[in-house]
Amino acid sequence: MSDTSHTSETAAFETLAVHAAEPRPAHGGSVVHPLYQGTVFETVPGQAYDDLQYIRLNTNPSQEYLHRKLAALEGAETALATASGMAAITTTLLATLGAGDHLIAAGAFYGGTHHFLTEQAPRLGWTVDFVDPDDHDAWTEALRPQTKAFIVETISNPLARVADLEGIAAFSREHRLTSIIDNTFATPVVFRPHAIGFDLVCHSATKALNGHSDLVAGVVTGSHEQVAVVRHVLNLYGGSLDPHAGFLLARGLKTLALRVRQQGATALALAQFLNGHNAVAEVNYPGLDTHPDHARAAALFDGYGSVLSFRPAGGVEAAEAILKALRLPYVAPSLGGVESLITRPAITSHAGMSPEERAAEGIHDDLIRFSTGIEAAEDLIADFRRALGD
Ligand SMILES: *Cc1c(COP(=O)(O)O)cnc(C)c1O
Repeated sequence: MSDTSHTSETAAFETLAVHAAEPRPAHGGSVVHPLYQGTVFETVPGQAYDDLQYIRLNTNPSQEYLHRKLAALEGAETALATASGMAAITTTLLATLGAGDHLIAAGAFYGGTHHFLTEQAPRLGWTVDFVDPDDHDAWTEALRPQTKAFIVETISNPLARVADLEGIAAFSREHRLTSIIDNTFATPVVFRPHAIGFDLVCHSATKALNGHSDLVAGVVTGSHEQVAVVRHVLNLYGGSLDPHAGFLLARGLKTLALRVRQQGATALALAQFLNGHNAVAEVNYPGLDTHPDHARAAALFDGYGSVLSFRPAGGVEAAEAILKALRLPYVAPSLGGVESLITRPAITSHAGMSPEERAAEGIHDDLIRFSTGIEAAEDLIADFRRALGD
C-alpha cells in the first residue's frame, strides 16, 4: 500500500492530519478510508498467530489504517489503539513491569492512573515510588536494581505543571529505564515526546485526539520493537479498540490541529482575562508568564493546551456561584472536546484523594478547572465577565 507516499516527512502537522496514512489511489476511489467492521478475514498460509486478521488482534484493515495515522501524528515508528486511555496506560505498564519490578512515577497523575498505581500495582508485585518531578536527587535516590521504568504526564491536571521532561528522558536513557509519558493534555500538536527521547507515549484519545466527546479510546506509540511487546500483551488482555470507534477517531484526528490551536489561543486569552480580574485569586495556565513552568513550556511546546484552572477570591461558595452562573460551558469533567467543560476537581477528578492530600498538592476545594472548547473567545470571556459579576 502506498500509505503516506504522498506526504513528505517534512509536511506540517495540519497536512499530516489530513493526508498521513491515507492510501493513494484511495480504496475504491473513496476519499474517506472505508470502515471495515468485520471481525475476521481469510487466512494466508503460514501466518503467525499475532498476524491473523482477527479483530482482537488489532489486524483488521481499519485498525491498521488508524495505527499508521496515529504513528505519523506522534512522530513514532508505530502506534497501537486501545479500548480506552486507561487500557493504553495499564497495558503499557503490564508490558514493561513484572512481579518484583519497580517504577518511578514523577509528579501528579490522572486519577485513574494514580488509583491503578496505588491499588493495583501492589497486587501485581510492583513497587512504585512517587517522586518530585524536578528533583534529580530524588530520582537517583529512588533508583534500585529492580527499577524498570519511569512514568510522567506532559502537563499535570489540574494545575498544569510541566515537569523536567528532558531531564526525565535523559535520566531514563542513562539508567536503561523505559520512559513512559501520558501526552493527553498536550496532544502531539503541542508536544511530541519521542522527539526528546521518550520511549512510549500514551494518550486518552477520548479527549482531544477525538475531540467530540463521543467515544472512548486510547493510544500507545513508540518503536516497532517496544510497541510489539505492548501489542502482544494487549492482544492477550483483550483491551483492543472497536473499528467503529476507530473510524470516528480517525475523523476527529483530521481536525486535531485546528481544534487544539484555537482552544490554546482561547485558553490563553481567557487565562489573561482571569489573571487580571479582582474576583480571581489564582490562575494556572502554562502560557501565562506568572506560571512557575512557563519558561520550560515555552521552550519545549508549540502552544500550551486547552486546560486552565483558577481559584475565585471568595472560596468554595464563590466557585459554586460561578459554575451556576456560566451559560456556555457544561458543568462536567473530561476535557479536550469542542464544547467547553467546567468542573471542581475536588468533587470530581480528585474526589478520590483526601482533602489533606489535595491541599498538599495545591488542589484546593475552591479550584475550578476549565477545558476550553472551540467557541469564540469573545463569547466565553463575556460569559465569564457576567458570571464574575462585572
Ligand atoms: C482521561 C485521561 C486518562 C484516561 O483515559 P480514558 O479514556 O478515560 O480511559 C488518562 N490520562 C489522562 C491525562 C486523562 O485525562
